[in-house]
Amino acid sequence: MPNSVKNTTFPKLLDLLAPHYCRGCERLGEVLCNRCKNNIIASQLQICPNCKAKAKNHRCQKCHTLPPIYLVGERSSLIGNLVHDYKYHSTRALAKPLAEILDKILPNTTNQAVIVPLPTIDRHIRERGLDHTYLIAKHLAKIRGKNYQTSKLLLRAKNTVQVGANRSMRLTQADSAYVVSSKATIDPSTTYILLDDVWTTGASMKAAVKKLRQAGAKDIIIAILALSRLD
Ligand SMILES: [Zn+2]
Ligand SMILES: [Zn+2]
Repeated sequence: MPNSVKNTTFPKLLDLLAPHYCRGCERLGEVLCNRCKNNIIASQLQICPNCKAKAKNHRCQKCHTLPPIYLVGERSSLIGNLVHDYKYHSTRALAKPLAEILDKILPNTTNQAVIVPLPTIDRHIRERGLDHTYLIAKHLAKIRGKNYQTSKLLLRAKNTVQVGANRSMRLTQADSAYVVSSKATIDPSTTYILLDDVWTTGASMKAAVKKLRQAGAKDIIIAILALSRLD
């Protein structure tokens, strides 16, 4: 079989063996159909994930020290299922639609913007075979174009695992969980978009904001895919 035939036939065969279906409505085709994607975008949550109060223009009256937070939806809804599927079943094909959703809900900045994924524990990246938040960040930067880039400028200080730790332990652990890479240059006129998949206690995100501010970042926004109401 000539190579050209093989190259076009093989993906189709794969599709037949493991067809993509929409995780929202089970329609065959893509992992997330346009209708389900638009539904998620249209039902975007306008609440503060930190205190659950209604947010105005992505800001909370009570939590005024936090940067504006752009939140997609609840963990118990479709977006939560998508994040779960993507992260724990390594459904790599979801990275792009998840980035497309973020593209629709995040503001456009005229200045340079750097998307900073909250770093995942190395062991989890190896186990899952993907650096899930970073991959979404890369897709998002590609969609947004030339003013946008992705940087792993936040690093884990040590491999602390949050699972099982109680709330106060998590807060203390998280505060020392990240460092800003010594190779990174923080520019006060750049917008830093801190990206994470799930907001649970918010401890990791708050620690990340603190580190970036200490390093000189002035313009920070937060992007979260799913809010967990369990805490
Ligand atoms: Zn669908
Ligand atoms: Zn709040």
